[in-house]
Amino acid sequence: MKITVIGLGQMGGNMALTLKRAGFDVTGSDLFETARERLAAQGLATVSPEAIAASDVYLLSLPTSDHVREVIETSPGLLARAPKGSVIVDTSTSDPVVSRELAAQVVAAGLEWLDAPVSGGPRGAASGKLGMLLGGDMATLERVMPMLEAMSAKRTHVGGPGSGHVVKLANNYLCATNLIATAEAVALAARAGVDPAACLSGLNSGSGRSAISEVNFPEWILSGRFDSGFTSGLMRKDLRLARDAADDLGLDLTLLHQVVAGWHANADRPADGDDFNHIVSPILAQAGV
Ligand code: NAD
Repeated sequence: MKITVIGLGQMGGNMALTLKRAGFDVTGSDLFETARERLAAQGLATVSPEAIAASDVYLLSLPTSDHVREVIETSPGLLARAPKGSVIVDTSTSDPVVSRELAAQVVAAGLEWLDAPVSGGPRGAASGKLGMLLGGDMATLERVMPMLEAMSAKRTHVGGPGSGHVVKLANNYLCATNLIATAEAVALAARAGVDPAACLSGLNSGSGRSAISEVNFPEWILSGRFDSGFTSGLMRKDLRLARDAADDLGLDLTLLHQVVAGWHANADRPADGDDFNHIVSPILAQAGV
């Protein structure tokens, strides 16, 4: 199976290396030469967007749906360039409305579509242990299953085109909310004299636990490392997409609006380029943590 990975950032670069290690014929492409050079130095074949060749699969890992649309429609324009029957797999956290529109165009052009947003960060991408949410036809899913299995530990097919992206937004809404809620819980306990690590042990043995209390707090927050590889800017994008989707669907989701406002209250703190876990820093600082 010949795979072209488009977008060689924190996620795409690591996914490309994992697929190469698993024995696939992988070429990487990125708009920026520095990204291509970084991956070429690690042994990956790379090409500029204009030089993308015929592949069985085009695996996209791009910041936003605008970038996904650009790659599909205009530059390099997969709709016109990709061989009939090839599959476009969008692993980005994208706008589901745009994904459904692009999926229809892709199918009309004789190609196949799958949305496959991921969880597990750069570390999951590098180890082939991502969690994947899958939206698209079962037949397409089965065609690319060997590739998906090489990248992920867990795969959940949630429906037709766009469904994977919808559930990913729901997931990241909970992740963003749990970060704030867990920080407030730890601050409460710390101000009352409980050691934060002891508080987390307690939370993790109770019903308040989540990936945030089990992974983010010990690994990236209390350790002071803040190097998860996922930025605040990307989380803000995901939250805006979740809020817009809810609004478009006529839902009145009060907490979602509060969480989005909290993440946008001060665009400089954390800055868009900062690790997303930094959203907890002012909350914990109040309690001297
Ligand atoms: P990133 O910014 O590190 O990488 C994106 C890459 O895409 C960059 O190298 C950029 O140069 C390239 N790019 C942008 N436009 C392009 C174009 N038109 N053609 C080719 N390349 C282009 O981002 P990331 O952290 O790897 O995230 C990628 C996607 O995965 C995002 O949608 C993000 O929300 C999602 N995601 C990220 C994480 C994480 O932990 N970083 C986890 C899950 C999902």
